[in-house]
Amino acid sequence: MLILTCASLSGGQGKTTVAILLGRMLAQTGQRVLMIDADPQANLTFYLGHEVQQNQPTLLEVLKKQINTEDGIYEIGENLWLIPADDGLDNAQEFLSGSGMGAIVLSKRLKEVSDLFQYCIVDAPPQRSQICLTSLGAADHIIIPVEASSKGVNSLIRTLSLVEELQEIDAFSGIVLGILPFRDKWVGNNQVAQSKASISAMRTIAEEIVVLPSILESEQFKKAIDKGVSLSSLGFEQLETPFQQIIERLQKNV
Ligand code: ATP
Ligand code: MG
Repeated sequence: MLILTCASLSGGQGKTTVAILLGRMLAQTGQRVLMIDADPQANLTFYLGHEVQQNQPTLLEVLKKQINTEDGIYEIGENLWLIPADDGLDNAQEFLSGSGMGAIVLSKRLKEVSDLFQYCIVDAPPQRSQICLTSLGAADHIIIPVEASSKGVNSLIRTLSLVEELQEIDAFSGIVLGILPFRDKWVGNNQVAQSKASISAMRTIAEEIVVLPSILESEQFKKAIDKGVSLSSLGFEQLETPFQQIIERLQKNV
């Protein structure tokens, strides 16, 4: 099972959007995909239409090892499974920091189910929290979605510096698969100045890391997520280019 974490240290950078659409596309190609909601905001759980019932285990119980990992997994659709979250996930912070090895906890828990899935996609929280560290620590590959704006550039700098810190203490030994510009705005054939300037800044900061084709500013992404369908089935196949590139890069690295 290849673990891919969507991480970016600022709110609204496209982490959840990328996790869902990529997960669905991989599932459609016949791959068994496990999605993990590692954000106490629980947007991924909500968008995937899963309601956590009282007394039902979530990622919190998986991290704390109160249950077997398999018992925290719910089937969402064809080839698609989820370890959900609710706001109780905040309680994992104390457990992870107290464990003294917070960054490797998720990785260890996922080993139990590594034969059951081909891909695992982790939706990390926007804060530099223990849950974020364990999400990055579990990753074979990291995707960093960042808004095509100065806020996005700042998020990229902060995220890359956290990845470096984790590399230095051997808590992350995978690769950054790519930086994914989010909400790249065009008017007709012209890219808006702010998008152009911030993506160019991202290329400079990225050095040898790939800057993937952008996710364009469009309402279709939210529509696809709300309706539970793909962008291509809405007639917007060209908007899927970034995801197709990610899938190609994943297949090369597997
Ligand atoms: P958070 O840090 O709060 O978890 P996030 O990084 O997960 O945020 P998303 O929730 O994926 O970010 O996206 C932020 C917002 O952008 C959402 O309201 C989403 O519907 C919207 N959005 C998604 N794709 C696009 C797009 N291509 N163009 C414009 N808006 C988009
Ligand atoms: Mg999110």
